[in-house]
Amino acid sequence: MRSILLDRPPPRSSDPARTLLAVSAERSNWAGNVTYGAARIHAPSSVEELQDLVARTERIRALGSRHSFSDVADTTGELVSVAGLPARIDVDAAARTVTVAAGLRYGDVAEELHRQGWALHNLGSLPHISVAGAVATATHGSGDGNGNLATAVAALHLVRADGELVTLRRGEPDFAGAVVALGALGVVAAVTLDVVPAFDVRQVVYDDLALDTVAERFDEIFAAAYSVSVFTDWAGTTRSWVKHRTGDGEWTPDPAWMGARLADAPRNPVPGMPAVNCTEQRGVPGPWYDRLPHFRLEFTPSSGEELQSEFLVPREHGVEAFGAISTLADRIAPVLQVCELRTAAADDLWLSSSYGRDVVGFHFTWKKDPDGVRPVLAEIERALAPYDARPHWGKLFTVAPEQVRERYPRLADFRRLRGEYDPDGRFGNVFLDRYVG
Ligand SMILES: Cc1cc2nc3c(=O)[nH]c(=O)nc-3n(C[C@H](O)[C@H](O)[C@H](O)COP(=O)(O)OP(=O)(O)OC[C@H]3O[C@@H](n4cnc5c(N)ncnc54)[C@H](O)[C@@H]3O)c2cc1C
Repeated sequence: MRSILLDRPPPRSSDPARTLLAVSAERSNWAGNVTYGAARIHAPSSVEELQDLVARTERIRALGSRHSFSDVADTTGELVSVAGLPARIDVDAAARTVTVAAGLRYGDVAEELHRQGWALHNLGSLPHISVAGAVATATHGSGDGNGNLATAVAALHLVRADGELVTLRRGEPDFAGAVVALGALGVVAAVTLDVVPAFDVRQVVYDDLALDTVAERFDEIFAAAYSVSVFTDWAGTTRSWVKHRTGDGEWTPDPAWMGARLADAPRNPVPGMPAVNCTEQRGVPGPWYDRLPHFRLEFTPSSGEELQSEFLVPREHGVEAFGAISTLADRIAPVLQVCELRTAAADDLWLSSSYGRDVVGFHFTWKKDPDGVRPVLAEIERALAPYDARPHWGKLFTVAPEQVRERYPRLADFRRLRGEYDPDGRFGNVFLDRYVG
């Protein structure tokens, strides 16, 4: 067992548990479309301070790295960030797990894990997000065989409403309900994640993939590598990011794969954004954490000026759903920056967007134009309704709450869990009232 402390900025006050982070940027989410209603954002520097804070605060919610576009993290009570807790990264090589402080970013965890010879099975498009925040909303990467990031959780170390620190382990009765919990059951102080031996990845980008080919050879495209993403602006530019694990055997990029062309220079999936923001491409082998995300930790991910939505559709309806969205191309393109298609494997986590089914994710990076986006979003939701599409909890959607609820077969069980862990609604907010009840 090995423990290290990363260098982190000191707390901003001599009483860190009561710190008010009044910097205006920190009172809103990363995208700037949600201003938190909380009077204060606390940043305790020890788990004991966190326990004390939770026990004596009537209404409180955990805040991660603020990358959600929905109001899932918001509260009119108080917010608490666990980013100031000691930055532990404890590898247990025998158990093949790592226990990390919940507020650490994947990028921080990944580099240290790799240094010790270990890896996580997958990562999202950006390494900037906190582990607890990503897990709480079922954040995913891509890959037919890859479960979302929450599926790597082997144990949660959670501060409950009464301030008690409890550990929930995989296999225990409530565990599958508690991992993707939208902050409803308590404040996660640490997370134990499965690790695998470190691996290298080669990433290539193909230009000019035809949309007809995407529809015709859908399964073949997404089965082509460990992780595949198809990006389209629905106005003529379609590219794919193909990420191959070097350990999966000999692989030579096909210069005319699926009728597309190997890109002659690095690309940024978001039109107009510089390629320097992105992880190395052109087939150069490199560590998993520096290839699986599209964006590099030191740079702005995506465009920075945007809104996002995503719908997770059962894999068997992927092609039909793609067809349904393509009929709206002329409506979508004017308010869109880029759309990304990805896949994720089924899991058993009650509030996961891939609970019980393999999925295709249809993601939209919108222009920052809420009035223009809203009606188009509603049209997409109507087009996807026959396919039981689950909206990403951390992104924007307008699907009616009762429809969202119907799409989660274990919602009643989750409600029961919520009642047990948080009988007085200490961790409640409008978002939970709306979609969970
Ligand atoms: C540029 C960009 C790219 C993105 N790419 C992807 C992607 O590739 N795949 C994908 O699936 N999503 C993606 N997202 C969405 C993002 O991963 C999710 O919104 C995720 O929840 C953000 O994590 P966070 O740490 O910022 O959490 P926050 O947004 O701060 O909080 C999200 C939820 O987590 C809860 N939470 C946070 N910390 C804790 C804790 N310690 N204990 C209990 N609950 C907690 C909060 O209460 C809240 O309910 C992207 C977002 C952005 C801005």
